[in-house]
Amino acid sequence: MNKIIFATGNEGKMKEIRMILSDLGVEVLSMKEAGISVDIVEDGKTFEENAIIKALAVSKACGEVVLADDSGLEIDALNKEPGIYSARYMGEDTSYDIKNRNLIDRLNGVKDEDRTARFVCAIAAAFPDGSYVTKVAAMEGRIGYEIKGENGFGYDPIFVLPKYGCTTAELSPEQKNEESHRGKALRMIKEELRARM
Ligand code: IMP
Repeated sequence: MNKIIFATGNEGKMKEIRMILSDLGVEVLSMKEAGISVDIVEDGKTFEENAIIKALAVSKACGEVVLADDSGLEIDALNKEPGIYSARYMGEDTSYDIKNRNLIDRLNGVKDEDRTARFVCAIAAAFPDGSYVTKVAAMEGRIGYEIKGENGFGYDPIFVLPKYGCTTAELSPEQKNEESHRGKALRMIKEELRARM
């Protein structure tokens, strides 16, 4: 194995992923960098099902080892919304500034202790022989009262990590990788990949 394709078009994610997999000694390419374009219908009912669908579809199309993740934000007071629809919440083209403001507004009047939320990440690794493995991890936190921080992406500016007392958009990339749902799931899947090298 000398290269791995990561099935995402999200540059924010690619940055985090490259950092975490850097000690594996293999080239990590996005689909765009690998020149692969596959139309995938993400119709799974869970993060894990969607990650498996993406990884298998891309691996089948290119014959390489493919990693895919599906992740999102679950807010307890909103019945775990936006959940698997996190990217599509209020429309794919709506800015995160608007999405984040909307979620804060929807939590108007909700007390501190009821603002619990988590980022969840499922990662699937699909191999050219059609086999796959998956890992799921979460990062627990709370939804804040204002948009804060410039780092990260997506819902990071409203996700407060109690341990740091700030949003994940205020953490350095290294700190976020240490704590994040994606960091944890990737470190677990990295061990599966190592075992197959
Ligand atoms: P996916 O690309 O289908 O996995 O969509 C995941 C969506 O969940 C992203 O577009 C973000 O809206 C949100 N999300 C997932 N992980 C994070 C994170 O680490 N920070 C902020 N938002 C995230």
